[in-house]
Amino acid sequence: MDRSTSVLELKGVGEKTRKLFEKLDIRSVGDLLGHYPRDYEIYEEPVSIGQTVPGKVCAVWAAVSGIPNERRVRRLHILNVTVSDGTGVMQLTFFNMPFLKKVLKPGSFYLFRGTVQSRGKTRLMEQPKIFSQEEYRRQTDRLLPRYSLTKGLTNQAVQKAVKQALDLCDFEEEFYPQALLDAYDLMPEREAVCTVHFPTDRELLGKARRRLVFDEFFAFLYLLRRNRQAGEGLRNRFRMFETADTVRFLEQLPFPLTKAQAKVWQEIRNDMSSENCMNRLIQGDVGSGKTVLAVLALLMTAANGYQGALMAPTEVLAAQHFETVKGYVEKYGVCFRPVLLVGSMTAGEKREAYEKIASGEANLIIGTHALIQSKVCFKALALVVTDEQHRFGVRQREHLAKKGEDPHILVMSATPIPRTLAIILYGDLHISVVDELPQGRLPIKNCVVNTSYRPTAYKFIAGQVAEGRQVYVICPQVEEGEMEDLENVVDYTEKLKSVLPPDISVAYLHGKMRAADKNRIMEEFAARSIDVLVSTTVIEVGINVPNATVMMVENAERFGLAQLHQLRGRVGRGEHQSYCIFVSAREDKETMERLQILNSSNDGFRIAAEDLRLRGPGELFGVRQSGEFSFRMGDIYADAAVLKQAADAIEALLAQDPDLERPENQALKRRLLDETVNTVDFRTI
Ligand code: ADP
Ligand code: MG
Repeated sequence: MDRSTSVLELKGVGEKTRKLFEKLDIRSVGDLLGHYPRDYEIYEEPVSIGQTVPGKVCAVWAAVSGIPNERRVRRLHILNVTVSDGTGVMQLTFFNMPFLKKVLKPGSFYLFRGTVQSRGKTRLMEQPKIFSQEEYRRQTDRLLPRYSLTKGLTNQAVQKAVKQALDLCDFEEEFYPQALLDAYDLMPEREAVCTVHFPTDRELLGKARRRLVFDEFFAFLYLLRRNRQAGEGLRNRFRMFETADTVRFLEQLPFPLTKAQAKVWQEIRNDMSSENCMNRLIQGDVGSGKTVLAVLALLMTAANGYQGALMAPTEVLAAQHFETVKGYVEKYGVCFRPVLLVGSMTAGEKREAYEKIASGEANLIIGTHALIQSKVCFKALALVVTDEQHRFGVRQREHLAKKGEDPHILVMSATPIPRTLAIILYGDLHISVVDELPQGRLPIKNCVVNTSYRPTAYKFIAGQVAEGRQVYVICPQVEEGEMEDLENVVDYTEKLKSVLPPDISVAYLHGKMRAADKNRIMEEFAARSIDVLVSTTVIEVGINVPNATVMMVENAERFGLAQLHQLRGRVGRGEHQSYCIFVSAREDKETMERLQILNSSNDGFRIAAEDLRLRGPGELFGVRQSGEFSFRMGDIYADAAVLKQAADAIEALLAQDPDLERPENQALKRRLLDETVNTVDFRTI
């Protein structure tokens, strides 16, 4: 059995489980091994009831102090039990477990483990797990993996499958040369994969994780280096001249460019008319107005008689850009002849688009990764723009560029990255920064609250909708069951429908929906026929609905601050006062302090840096910071040190052996060029 073997070969995995795995993008044994735990359950030392912290999972050793009280609410059996330990009392509630009445005898001691809640002074636990002291001791100090799941697939089933895969899978030989392993103190790959799934202690887990993160970064940076070599000093085949079109467009726009935008526009013009081909990254905080810069570059391209392509990471975003551009054509008569190309179009629609692209009838092509399919042939592709670029792997960018003959490249990113990291991550690009927001925006009002604030928030939302505004609500997961205890889009939508006035229309959006449905929902939201949109972070990327004024984020503690900042950027885009409500299910001091940073700053760079400083580097079970860089395990902020090491390692290796021709580097070369192993994921969620 090797990495490419189907998961069906594993014992206990039948057709049904295979389908469930497929939902998680797990097809082969290798995919399964790469499905790293999202965190670990830790059976910590028990605490006394007096020491429990609301919002946290705790274990208490306590005695049942009264006869359990049972009642029925329709088909639900509810059992209430009071326990105490001398430092306090706690109320336990069990659902549909009537047999516990006999087990939990007054005076008997047990270990109860669950999330602690509070009502006034009373401590509560719902559905805690029950252990004898002996049983619990056996669990402590172990780290039990918790996987991302899908409805119907249990954590245990994944664990079992992974265990088998680890036992049976033949790992290839170690692929780094020994010198590199030694220099960076890397754990062997096989051991690292085993340890990450079933760690025996934290220190080893840290080392294992570091090895796998190093691998991811190394592969990514290697591709980047190849790109740079290919793109460096390329002759400009599409020298462009500034025409009246862009000047007129700028005059017609309802706003002047900000100073920062004007500076970047100048840089773009210089690039496109110079000796060498453009290879430029525009980095700018959400709302800094990057789109208009892309439009200007594309307009200059069209005016010079060439074609430009704009690739967006989601259909929703592609459709939005297309509408914007169509608006410019209608309102200002700019010389675009745009077409849209996305996966969900019918075969007939696509064929029509292909023809227009091949004949040159279209001079602006907007789409998703559908643009890089082999059927797409351009007539004169001179400029490729990718929006929110690192949703795409480096390879995808490469593929699109290859559709033309050394076209100019412009990538746009809102991920705030310190300069030192930007140089590593965007090594193949010149960097322009839009470091200024357009004037006249009202600053967004923020609040960080606990879940008891919800009723107030719903009233506020209803009020905003009554004034004609629209609202986003973000939940961390799509449907029940992927991760325990987290709000999910589907159920939350039902809940909101029942608590908000009936004339408010609530709908949901998530990455697992069909593309056509996503587009329809987004269109309806943009057209204001939906008032409240409940969504996962799919809407994090680039959506522009200036009438939306409220962003409410559930389980805000689960997100990195940089990501929350991106989400916040979806509001405050119009003339109305906007609001962000960050709801945290955890109330401990560190969580609240971390989230408060969002209150004190609107600067994405500062927020990311501050978050990193607070959490410290190398945090094991970090929240994911950046949706844009979708590494499986690595996080460009928390693992910045590893990123630098990987960059150094590549530098040193390629300095000695630029084409990886030496015998000791052959295994590495094979691995790096194996497209099935090392691609950076393209995910839309
Ligand atoms: P992002 O940089 O996040 O992609 P967008 O390009 O979507 O931001 O721009 C956000 C909003 O700001 C849009 O509604 C856009 O029309 C507007 N905008 C862009 N530039 C300016 C400007 N110079 N003055 C005022 N509004 C602007
Ligand atoms: Mg944008």
